[in-house]
Amino acid sequence: MANQRIGVLEGDFIGPEIMKEALRILRVMEERSPFAFEIVPLEAGGQAYDKYGCHLPADTLRKAETCDALLKGPFGGPPEALASPKWSGVEQGAILPLRKHFRLYTNLRETKLFDSLLYLSPVTEHLIKDVDLLIVRELTSGMYFGEKQERVVNGERVYSDAEAYSESEIRRIAVRAFEYAKTRKNKVTLVAKSNVLKSSVLWREVVAETAASYPEVENDYMHVDNAAMQLILNPRQFDVILTSNMFGDILSDEASVLSGSIGLFPSASLGDGPFGLYEPIHGSAPSIAGRDIANPISAILCVALMLRYTFGEEAEAARIEHAVQQTLELGYRTQDLFCGGTDDPDKLLGTQQMGETI
Ligand code: ATP
Ligand code: MG
Repeated sequence: MANQRIGVLEGDFIGPEIMKEALRILRVMEERSPFAFEIVPLEAGGQAYDKYGCHLPADTLRKAETCDALLKGPFGGPPEALASPKWSGVEQGAILPLRKHFRLYTNLRETKLFDSLLYLSPVTEHLIKDVDLLIVRELTSGMYFGEKQERVVNGERVYSDAEAYSESEIRRIAVRAFEYAKTRKNKVTLVAKSNVLKSSVLWREVVAETAASYPEVENDYMHVDNAAMQLILNPRQFDVILTSNMFGDILSDEASVLSGSIGLFPSASLGDGPFGLYEPIHGSAPSIAGRDIANPISAILCVALMLRYTFGEEAEAARIEHAVQQTLELGYRTQDLFCGGTDDPDKLLGTQQMGETI
């Protein structure tokens, strides 16, 4: 088998620190499996801006097109630096165009709880035990891509962002959600806001039509405000949550907190083929960068998702997930997972030590 080409976008701030650990895992895996790959370094984000004056150089896109999958660290800068074009333009200049360019309309964000971390959750243990939910977020349309306007009306500034969805955009992601539900617990909950948003009414109509082809899958609906509450009150009721670009962004950060830390979760962005973009759900965390304290587990689990969804290497993916689980069970913690009391200070690890231990 020819080498698989994996494009690596390191990201900003903690990005390079955690991606280094993800690549360490990949190398270890390569040593003892027939899976062979080649790393293709790609420049984008704030780093690229310094060098080339743009967030996503044309050369990066060209090289990315020759890859089978992309592993990406978080892009972005500190909120207080948003006035600088280097950081204010990174979402619109690199993150959104990358997803759009490769037509990665399906974003998967799975919240699985680690039994050994249940005590860290802000929600009581008996409410979250056995939570296993998958957010299927639409990624290439909706408000993040809708028409943006800056106007002056009656002497004051009015800025707007349009939320627009077409039937076909909703249908293709709805089909994905129902297909995933069939491999899980057979339930899809559509989350929208159909009492006030026109686009949400279309989501309801198209998802109801799609559901008719999946009689074996239970299908229900929740307004997003209620869903935000239910995620904390009764997260076990969910299997697959199907939702729009913006609601999915917000709900997945919320869902990650059930586990105790946002530093644990990867995401997969997929289109119609095996090509995928794999990135942590969190941002570049400037405030903890350069101190070897970021949790690399989100990036390491990105490797597992890549092996599963793009390369079909389920056994290797499961092995990586198992190694993470075991490391946590043995009591090893990065700082975001460490809470004085019962945790063993000798098992508090830096980013690199955590990667090595896994
Ligand atoms: P974005 O807009 O790019 O999603 P954000 O403003 O939501 O960024 P993050 O960068 O995700 O912010 O950081 C949110 C919080 O989570 C910060 O306190 C950060 O330190 C913490 N955090 C994020 N990722 C990690 C990680 N891998 N390990 C430890 N803490 C993390
Ligand atoms: Mg965020």
